[in-house]
Amino acid sequence: MDKKFLPYCQPLIEKEEIKEVVDTLKSGWLTIGPKTTEFESLIAEYVGAKHAISVNSCTAALHLSLIALGIKSGDEVITTPFTFASTGNVIVHIGAKPVFVDIKKDTYNLDPEKIKEAITPKTKAIIPIHYAGQPYDVKAIMEIAKDHNLFVIEDAAHAIGAEYNGKKIGTFGTTTCFSFYATKNMTTGEGGAVTTNDDKLADKLRILRLHGMSKDAWKRYSDKGSWYYEIEECGWKYNMTDMQAALGVHQIKKLDKFIEIRRKYASIYNKELKKIEGIIIPYEKPNVKHVYHLYPILLKNYNRNKFIEEMKEMNIGCSVHFIPLHLHPFYKRTFRFKKGDFPNAEWVYEREVSLPLYPKMKEEELKYIIKCIRKLLL
Ligand SMILES: *Cc1c(COP(=O)(O)O)cnc(C)c1O
Repeated sequence: MDKKFLPYCQPLIEKEEIKEVVDTLKSGWLTIGPKTTEFESLIAEYVGAKHAISVNSCTAALHLSLIALGIKSGDEVITTPFTFASTGNVIVHIGAKPVFVDIKKDTYNLDPEKIKEAITPKTKAIIPIHYAGQPYDVKAIMEIAKDHNLFVIEDAAHAIGAEYNGKKIGTFGTTTCFSFYATKNMTTGEGGAVTTNDDKLADKLRILRLHGMSKDAWKRYSDKGSWYYEIEECGWKYNMTDMQAALGVHQIKKLDKFIEIRRKYASIYNKELKKIEGIIIPYEKPNVKHVYHLYPILLKNYNRNKFIEEMKEMNIGCSVHFIPLHLHPFYKRTFRFKKGDFPNAEWVYEREVSLPLYPKMKEEELKYIIKCIRKLLL
């Protein structure tokens, strides 16, 4: 192969998206407006939820979910340490305490048995993630939440289109939070959405994402916007813009195709990499549809950092998901976490490599990656 560098991830933006953004720019309506509304309907319809509220990131979606559900200082929120910073940071932002629970060594998702042990009278919510695009144990976690009267805020940053028992992610939790960041399975550059079936909660989220400005005031006094508004809550500036939604309205229509390619590539990786003794390929549970936002392999007895460097020398970009949150300086310093606290998350982290996987990648590029891995490990 040539010397072209293959990044671990790349968005696929085509002429439809470009045309739509230009249309937005020419329309004179740049920020939250008709395209944002259209995008929200498409998201709600796609995941099968009553409401989709667009925001400027999944982080904002998680933050607003905690606020709208009244979780506050002194409360405890259970989550996984094996995630991106957002999931833990939003808990800290509202003054609550992040309570980490270790993951399972097969799916790298939260271990329901360990969640039960971590519940205290202060526990208010669980934030599970669908690691790599594979749904967590929805049935077990929903049962625990019901038994202990807890909210479930799903971090579905990896999982739009993923299914559990034949049903799409998006309505299992009290809220489900999606990310449309540039690296995710579909993108608006930056962006996110919260989905829910709860009408009151949806209204609250809608108001909170734009300064706490009352929607009713707009309806009552305006024909699409008069000077009048009322601040009902002390909200945030977390709205999506029409420039972003212009990408989203086309990306969502292509999502099933994107997922199909991801699953096909994952199956090629699986087939070839399981022949290599030193690799643990991702485990896919039988009752889920895994959307392979990531393709994480574990190296049994080869230095992970060395592997990534050697792949880079062969023009292949790899990544690591994730450095467990409890090992980061802020979390260590603030909550006195230390190495050894969550052994399964650490065990996976030390061995994990995320290989390139995205619809823009060509099958021959995938074959080249496999060839390079064989060269290193065989
Ligand atoms: C990417 C990611 C987020 C954050 O998404 P943004 O839209 O960038 O805020 C949150 N959680 C997980 C697990 C992620 O991978």
